[in-house]
This record gives sequence, C-alpha cells and structure tokens, in this order.
Amino acid sequence: MKKLSVALTILFLAVILDIGSTQAGSIFVTIGTGGITGVYYPTGGAIAKMVNKKNKEYGIRATVESTGGSVFNINAIMAGDMAFGIVQSDRQFQAMNGMAEWKAKGPQTELRAVFSIHPEAVTLVTASDAGIKTIRDLKVKRVNIGNPGSGQRQNAIDALTAVGIDYEKDIIAESIKASEAAGLLQDNRIDAFFYTVGHPSGSIKEVTSGARKVVIADIAGVDSLLEKYPYYTKTSIPIKLYPGADNKQDVITFGVKATLCTSSRIPDDIVYAITKEVFDNLEEFRTLHPAFSTLTKGSMLTGISAPFHPGAMKYFKEVGLK
Ligand code: GLU
Repeated sequence: MKKLSVALTILFLAVILDIGSTQAGSIFVTIGTGGITGVYYPTGGAIAKMVNKKNKEYGIRATVESTGGSVFNINAIMAGDMAFGIVQSDRQFQAMNGMAEWKAKGPQTELRAVFSIHPEAVTLVTASDAGIKTIRDLKVKRVNIGNPGSGQRQNAIDALTAVGIDYEKDIIAESIKASEAAGLLQDNRIDAFFYTVGHPSGSIKEVTSGARKVVIADIAGVDSLLEKYPYYTKTSIPIKLYPGADNKQDVITFGVKATLCTSSRIPDDIVYAITKEVFDNLEEFRTLHPAFSTLTKGSMLTGISAPFHPGAMKYFKEVGLK
C-alpha cells in the first residue's frame, strides 16, 4: 500500500511539475536556459553537472533545455512545464509584481528564487559600417530588439525610450532570437542587435570574429532609467574580452543579474540539493564559466525579488548565510 502511494505521489508530481521518474528511481528535473550561444545555456549545464555528480545521494537527474529566454522560462515554470529556469532579475521583479508581460495575468505569486548568478549587461552590438557610435544613432536602422520570450526585449525598449527613440516608429525593429542575431548582422541583414547577457558570451565572440567589423556601442544617457527602475544598475563591459571588436574602450551600459528560479510547488528536497551542491562547491562551480569569476556566496543572495524557496532557505540557514 505504501509503495503504491509513493508511486502515485511521484506520478502526480511528474505530471504537474515536470519532474519525471525512472525505474532506477531518479527524479528528472529540467532547467530552462536560453540560446546555446548565450551564457544561460552553459550555466544550466554547470548547475546540472554539480547536482548530477551526486545522483546516488539525491536521486536527481537534471537536464538542460535551450529556450527563448527569461520570459519564456518564467511562464514555463508557472505552467509546470519546467521545474527550474534562469531568469533576469528585472524579469523576476516584474513577474512578482504583475508588470510588463505579466500585466494582464497579474502577479506570479508562486514564483520562487533559488539564488542569483552572474551579472548581465545590456549589450548593443553594431556594424562598424552602419556608423552607430551610441544608442542615439540607431534611428532608421535595422535593429534586433529580441524575441518576445527573451529578457532583452524589454531592456532594449526601455533603453530606446529613455533616449527618445520609439521602437515602433523610429527604427526597423526585428524580433529574432539572440542566437540568430550574430549571423544576421554578419550577413548584413541587420545593423545592430541588443542582447542582455553575461560576458564573455559565445554569441558576442562569434559576431566580433566575423568579416563585417563590429563596435559594441555605449548605452549612455539613460540615467532616468536607472532612477525609475530599481533593478537596473550601471555597469561596463571589459573590451579585452572581445579583441576582435573595433572599439578599444570598455563599454558603458547598464545591467541586471541572472537568477535561478523555480515554483513554490517544487519539493524542498530538490531545491535544497541543487542549492547545497552549487554553494558547497562554489570554487569548482566558478571554474565552469569565465562569467562566474566574481561570484561569492554573499553576492548570490542579492538581486532577488521573489521569496526564496524554502528548500534554498533551509540551506542558507544551515550555513549561516541567512
Ligand atoms: N538574458 C537573456 C534572456 O533572458 C539570456 C541570456 C543568455 O542566454 O545568457 O533572454
């Protein structure tokens, strides 16, 4: 009887929470990421690697899915299609407060934070031959602002609005995935694209290594934005990460943080195990991507607006971080 009820519970959880079970007893959890040339995809891989190493202890098998980005990930977590997702801190705030894409649906009260990860910069990549030195020069240009499921789309709209550019009228706005943008810029089908991403990223390396020369342009003059929205901070992109870029100065811009999110419906044990494995082995985790080089345990508890999941909180209390 007990066996039957355990089996039924697992089946129930598998159906409503996208956590499946194998005969060997592993629970499968999916981590939603972004395009494969971004930083979310390898980040999901790094988290999965840490927890899968302890499969015998926890019985968890984490897998990574490439997705359209933050907004897609939040909606998939809320729908129960994915257990975890990597999400921009500003999108976490908006979903919790029923803003932007969640205005009609209202606050996503079951969204939970696990921890934050690397900083992300709103990055404006432009073709040198298009003569774009700053964001203000984007008028009448062909600009990719990002697919609707992405985090960068709203960042691009916010930045353009702050400098008086109406994305619906003043530019030729494209809505394609970041993973395709580098190729389109190299093929002269767009003049510029926005990508909110950690650095270095595969996509920016790709576009700065092509035959068409590119400049990573400043996004300056957006102080009104930083005053208006609490989740945006000033940041810069070290140009030494992209030796192929035409500009040789560090890039001035603003940014957010990548965060790991889940739902309040995901069992504490699973969230606890993931949090513990990343935090207990942070030194090793940091070596898995250069964008993680500045991570500290303390910094990974900042940039959060959803409540922490109780499984994460249990770990933070145990080690005195909360
Ligand atoms: N920040 C992007 C988004 O939310 C994804 C960046 C990445 O994949 O590294 O859509």
